Amino acid sequence: MALSGLGIYKLLPKTNCKKCGFPTCLAFAMQLAAKKVSLDKCPDVSADSKKALASASEPPIKLITLGKGDDKLEVGNETVLFRHEEKFYHPSGIGLLLEDTLSAEEMGKALEEIKKLDFERVGQRINVNLVAVSCKSKDASKFEAALKAVLAGTSLAIMPMTEDAGLMGKALELLKERAPLMYRATNANFKDMAKLSKAFSAPLVANAGTLEELESLVKNLNTEGVRDIVLDTGEKNLAEKLWDMTEIRRLALKKAFRIFGYPTLAFTGGENTFQEAAEAVTYVAKYAGIIVMKGRAPWQILPILTARQNIYTDPQKPLQVEAKIYEIGKVTDKSPVIVTTNFSLTYYTVEAEVEAGKVPAYVVTCDSEGMSVLTAWAADKFTAESIAKTLEKCGIKEKVSHKQVIIPGYVSVLSGKLEEESGWKVTVGPREASGIPAFLRNLGK
Ligand code: SF4
Repeated sequence: MALSGLGIYKLLPKTNCKKCGFPTCLAFAMQLAAKKVSLDKCPDVSADSKKALASASEPPIKLITLGKGDDKLEVGNETVLFRHEEKFYHPSGIGLLLEDTLSAEEMGKALEEIKKLDFERVGQRINVNLVAVSCKSKDASKFEAALKAVLAGTSLAIMPMTEDAGLMGKALELLKERAPLMYRATNANFKDMAKLSKAFSAPLVANAGTLEELESLVKNLNTEGVRDIVLDTGEKNLAEKLWDMTEIRRLALKKAFRIFGYPTLAFTGGENTFQEAAEAVTYVAKYAGIIVMKGRAPWQILPILTARQNIYTDPQKPLQVEAKIYEIGKVTDKSPVIVTTNFSLTYYTVEAEVEAGKVPAYVVTCDSEGMSVLTAWAADKFTAESIAKTLEKCGIKEKVSHKQVIIPGYVSVLSGKLEEESGWKVTVGPREASGIPAFLRNLGK
């Protein structure tokens, strides 16, 4: 059970020595309760207190790390049921299923397609994270060939799928440098899989059809010494799977039930490709650590990655770009000046449309605390005064030989006051960013 700040304080030395960087032990205890500092910052905590506090400061859902380098995948370590309570920390990993019955040519093609599922959106990389290789053939040489091809053809995390401990052992030998996820331990094979998991320090998926069976399996794995586990209640329909994952999350967070204090895994089972994508988005929202899909068409994957990016942003901190001057294309002192807000989505949409228009322009983003144009205007964060101040201070006056600024069409109401405040001639631009290319091309005609 997590301790409160006061509960933690009682176990600290209470000398207020400040060695931890906080003015008092109580201040440190509060930060520790909020999981913002680690216990090792206090050098004087006693061994007994350390033991008591170590378990109290463990995350309610364990962090599991797979893969290596830039493509490392971390799942778990979530602290809330609802995003608005705080935020979700580790975005669900999106995995793609490949079967070892694919021919070498089909496998190569599939891996090329997976490589392309790597996009940039609002300045961030959004991509798939894992390749699951299923031993459908039950043939050791085919499984090995498929794993070798995947190891060579992708830098993503890999999940070998077999219930045969002998085949799993060979797979782990092959994949050990890639920190793979073992799929799967069942009631029938958990002892052998546990041995492999410990020998290779590889996280292991515990798979059972009901929550009761899963509880018993995880207890058995813990008894065998396995600590890095991912929970799976098998392929089910959407409603049943959603129920299982919600119960697991609720029990881990609200009841401090440590047996379920691990991230979950879900396979999509949608009957058609549209349904599969919708199912995956549902699991991103509630509460899969990893989702494994069969479909890999970009039109299926991109909306899932976009939804994931939105769900895993901090609801109290909109994605924002730096408030400054952005030069799009080969600008000169005659280039137009466009102002907008510093909400990432707004900026990148405007940037893309200016590029599409092929008319070099300056885009000046005002600090609107990451709000979009209309929201910022309604909240008094994008006003004639704030725009005038930005134009005065951002350095744009030194870059252009004119004093003409384009404002978003939605805030045309600001134009008169802005001219008065800034001394710049205001032109009202289009309401939607999609109108920018034509607008810029016709400017001055
Ligand atoms: Fe208290 Fe330890 Fe911080 Fe000193 S270092 S103020 S004893 S918590």
